[in-house]
Amino acid sequence: MSVALTIETEAWRKHLRSIADATPGLVPVAKGNGYGYGLERLAQEAILLGADVIAVGTQPEVAKVRAGGWSGSIVVLTPWSPHDGDEVLREEQVISTISRLDDLDAARAVNPQARIVLEVMTSMRRHGLAIEDLPRVADRLGEMHVEGWTIHLPMVADDRLGEARALAAAALAAHRAPLWLSHLLAAEYDTLREEVSVPTRLRVGTKLWLGAPKTRRTTARVLDMHKVRRGERIGYWQRRMPTDGWVVVVSGGTANGIALEAPTSAAKLRQRAITLVSSSMEALGFALSPYTVSGKKRFFVEPPHMQSSLVFLPGAGSVAVGDEVPVELRLTTATVDEIRG
Ligand SMILES: *Cc1c(COP(=O)(O)O)cnc(C)c1O
Repeated sequence: MSVALTIETEAWRKHLRSIADATPGLVPVAKGNGYGYGLERLAQEAILLGADVIAVGTQPEVAKVRAGGWSGSIVVLTPWSPHDGDEVLREEQVISTISRLDDLDAARAVNPQARIVLEVMTSMRRHGLAIEDLPRVADRLGEMHVEGWTIHLPMVADDRLGEARALAAAALAAHRAPLWLSHLLAAEYDTLREEVSVPTRLRVGTKLWLGAPKTRRTTARVLDMHKVRRGERIGYWQRRMPTDGWVVVVSGGTANGIALEAPTSAAKLRQRAITLVSSSMEALGFALSPYTVSGKKRFFVEPPHMQSSLVFLPGAGSVAVGDEVPVELRLTTATVDEIRG
């Protein structure tokens, strides 16, 4: 097997439960690659949490969470537009996000009783109704089922709570409905929740699924290894090896989202470069890999292949064909071949 994600299931679920317990109105977000776990698995976990709504990113993801057994309400975070077609607006379980007055009119024409959330423009400047448009919303709603206002805030902000307060006040003045928030800190959410007189929801993805790093590990397998001499040419690109050592062929490549550089901070990289071999390999233009072999991150011999990668182990290493080695993956961009647990 190739790249594996091993979950300490009990510990992970304990973490998920603790976030859910601390977050009244939690809406688990299951989108994209399912934060490495896959959308079906996240749907199953959301069911175990007892969530009543799940959020997906795009319309095609609706079917994927259903395949995981989800039968409750599903909010689609990417705003609906006429390009998305009519069908989704007629689905009883689906809540569509609306972020433009024109789309509101178009959605109402398709299904006058569609379930929607209305997105308010924030300093994110991604999607949303302009604040000056809010007073024009109420007259256009007719019998539409407005499940709430949505406010999606930036991760970095000087006064995120202040912005949330101001936008919430403007939205609620235009039409009373629950507030759906994203990216408020727990304490900010708690404060706002007490200030407003409507139900609140908080959509959480990363902090929920990826919040307890100790509950998972990602590993690759040593597929092969070959002794090489200093100066010997290796790989597709026939690069010369800087010292005697081993070429270790490990599972995982571009298909798994293995990046050319290990997803570590530049500062850590510099620290690592202090060791003699590292600094010379870096100087020679080799890129640090996300694979740890014999206790250290190793350099790629060359860019990762589709499903395997060549890394260089200087000297006489202690690793064997068949061993599992840690590989650092950014789980929002990775595709693992196997999930254990
Ligand atoms: C993706 C997304 C979230 C979840 O983001 P995380 O940072 O993964 O928690 C919340 N709200 C909206 C609108 C999103 O698009």
